[in-house]
Amino acid sequence: ARGRGLVEVFDDSMGAVAERRLHLETQLRHDLETGSGALTVAFQPVVEPAGGRIVGVEALARWSCARYGAVGPDEFIAVAEDAGLIHDLGRSVLRIALEQSVWWHRLRPDLEVAVNVSPVQLHRADLADEVGHLLARAGVSPQLLCLEVTEGVLLDPHGASAANLRALHELGVKLAVDDFGAGYSSLSQLRRFPLDVLKADRSFVDDPPILRAVADLATALGAQALAEGVETPEQRRQLVELGYARAQGYLWARPQPADAVTEALRAAGG
Ligand code: C2E
Ligand code: CA
Ligand code: CA
Ligand code: CA
Repeated sequence: ARGRGLVEVFDDSMGAVAERRLHLETQLRHDLETGSGALTVAFQPVVEPAGGRIVGVEALARWSCARYGAVGPDEFIAVAEDAGLIHDLGRSVLRIALEQSVWWHRLRPDLEVAVNVSPVQLHRADLADEVGHLLARAGVSPQLLCLEVTEGVLLDPHGASAANLRALHELGVKLAVDDFGAGYSSLSQLRRFPLDVLKADRSFVDDPPILRAVADLATALGAQALAEGVETPEQRRQLVELGYARAQGYLWARPQPADAVTEALRAAGG
């Protein structure tokens, strides 16, 4: 026992990796239960590539572990999924993002906020109810929220995930397929879901023929294409030529604290 309600059990056979993982899980659970402020949200602007106008933001979870310092989301999201903590974590990120967006809507009433949803969260039958509740409590219009899911959740059109996605769509929330093209969804599966945005996987940002195909597919599905991971002026030029209306990347802005986004919106005159 380390005090402060933290309990860890070690076994001599455990290696450093297992020890780190166990500690991350214990600490993350503690931070979520106490609302310690160690879990924060960074926001990356989504822009129109032609003029750079900010049209939305993506919320990205950040966590500082008391022992190990900053831990990347690829690591702590996996820990949260395995430990059953992703529901609480996802709810916290969504609540923070919605509460923040209320302030931004004073400057830019149509600013969209995108939030990542883990496949594990979609297994809970009450996810759509919970999202509806958080939207109502924050006073944010469902049309201004976009939930990002990965292709894998589109595999089973009759499962709990599909029911959740349809219920979310009925609420009026937008749905984006994240990392599109990196997974294994088939065209026929895509058609069965009410999708609003296809986010071309970052690995395609230097591949104009694939970017064109994603844009064409988005059009065929009645969705919008978005390119992420844009870092160079040449990549931007290509996207403009291909007619992309949305993009994200270090070329415009890194994920940053909410105040930095507020400044950028102010500087752009709202
Ligand atoms: P993602 O949803 O695909 O998010 C985009 C990632 O690309 C972010 O990494 C972002 O910082 C990074 N990125 C943005 N622009 C550029 C660029 O121009 N170049 C490069 N090289 N990278 C760029 P991050 O923040 O480390 O997040 C990693 C992943 O963790 C996310 O990938 C997402 O899958 C997951 N994640 C983050 N926050 C959450 C969350 O609240 N819930 C869930 N379920 N997953 C989250
Ligand atoms: Ca995402
Ligand atoms: Ca992505
Ligand atoms: Ca990802």
